[in-house]
Amino acid sequence: MRAHEAGALHAEVAEPPALPLRPPADLDSLAPHVWPATARRGPDGEIRVGGVDLRAVAAEFGTPCYVIDETDFRSRCRRWRTAFEGATVYYAAKALLTLGIARWVADEQLGLDVCTGDELAVALRAGVDPARIVFHGNNKSDAELRTALQAGVGRIVIDAFAELRRLAALGAELGVRPDVLIRVTVGVEAHTHEFIATAHEDQKFGFSLAGGQALAAVTEALGATSLRLVGLHSHIGSQIFDTAGFEVAAHRVVGLLRTIRDQHGIELPELNLGGGVGVAYTADDDPVDVAEFAAQVRAIVERECAAAGLAVPRLAVEPGRAIAGPPVLTVYRVGTVKPVDLGGGFVRTYVSVDGGMSDNIRAALYDAAYTCALANRRAAGEPILARVVGKHCEAGDIVVRDTFVSADIQDGDLLAVPVTGAYCRSLASNYNYLGRPPLVAVRDGRARLLVRRETIDDLLRLDLGDDLNRGECTASEDTPPDTRTHDRAGVRSGAAEPAE
Ligand SMILES: *Cc1c(COP(=O)(O)O)cnc(C)c1O
Repeated sequence: MRAHEAGALHAEVAEPPALPLRPPADLDSLAPHVWPATARRGPDGEIRVGGVDLRAVAAEFGTPCYVIDETDFRSRCRRWRTAFEGATVYYAAKALLTLGIARWVADEQLGLDVCTGDELAVALRAGVDPARIVFHGNNKSDAELRTALQAGVGRIVIDAFAELRRLAALGAELGVRPDVLIRVTVGVEAHTHEFIATAHEDQKFGFSLAGGQALAAVTEALGATSLRLVGLHSHIGSQIFDTAGFEVAAHRVVGLLRTIRDQHGIELPELNLGGGVGVAYTADDDPVDVAEFAAQVRAIVERECAAAGLAVPRLAVEPGRAIAGPPVLTVYRVGTVKPVDLGGGFVRTYVSVDGGMSDNIRAALYDAAYTCALANRRAAGEPILARVVGKHCEAGDIVVRDTFVSADIQDGDLLAVPVTGAYCRSLASNYNYLGRPPLVAVRDGRARLLVRRETIDDLLRLDLGDDLNRGECTASEDTPPDTRTHDRAGVRSGAAEPAE
């Protein structure tokens, strides 16, 4: 079932869940490969993360609320750094980026991958060393490139011929010579256990290997005196569970390194294989371990380079989800609980929570699977088939499509959904004027706010009303226009706002 603009297809919504979906042996268990590393049940059956009771988090910061296990996040950074010793690990900021997160990443000596000038601005504001930043993006503006050059960003990944020429001109103008990589699309699209390998790739990123585009880009970059070409970049997808797709990608990209050596007499020293390592969203998922992944990737690249007679280039990787996903859970407050008879002996209970597709669009957008558990207490009922839904005016507003919850779940309970660190807050919206939830860091029994909750005042601050028209319309009325705006909107008008 996919959300549809015309509304849900009710026949599909009422479909019994796909088998095999069986009730878990224990509704309260917190599978260690799914939940944050420090998540435990406390004496009242409540979930604690970083030694902090989620009931206390909900009381202090409200719900919905993203809670990040700082210890887990940092130890993932360290595991990647150790597994890829001698290579560069860039954390992919698009998964989850705040000033605090950028500082943790820098503390743990990882680099940062950004793909807009705005992500770059956050990184620089956080004090990240520009030399440790790699700048991606298929549509970088001159202003963004200029900022990156002036900041001294470590690597710029070139995505198109027009960009290559604009960057070369900007480098010449500013008297700098940035280190650049050419992004190569290798015709491999990987996802979970499957990957597709084709000769051509129909997508917006990079230069395709097929037809010699990538080689032509390399040739042009080598000829540009204001650019220093240091390597190639390839990113084959996301939520990948094994290295088979990377193997094909490495084979093809090393093949290009060999062609470059043969044609230009140059061995490019760097190979960035992108991100994409998957995580477990449910207990059934079994993604590859970081150390194992690193060992396999190294072995693959070494073998391919040996076969091509090339020295092994310095590797770089860009994990996003694998670092930011599992350390975060979302705490929701349960509201309406509604059993729906599906026929054929199936009843599905719709459990509504106080957020939804605005704080986690992954189920609606990608059909993503999630799990959940009561966070304020233990389950006291039988497992019942359930679907956790949000409060938006949209039938596709689903958080957990198919799950089991305790039959005694009720209004006021707290529900925790794990693995919401990656691509949840960063894809969050204000649909139905919901403010985006706060991000709370927990560690050693203490909770602190990294990002506060967005309020209706935050949202209305951007909305200038239409004072000009209102002024004209109300010129003959008693009420001054400013006061009317204030009354209507509940906030001061844009014109009355203090200058920043
Ligand atoms: C999205 C992206 C990543 C991170 O992907 P994950 O699946 O989160 O690891 C890394 N590199 C590039 C170029 C990306 O676009």
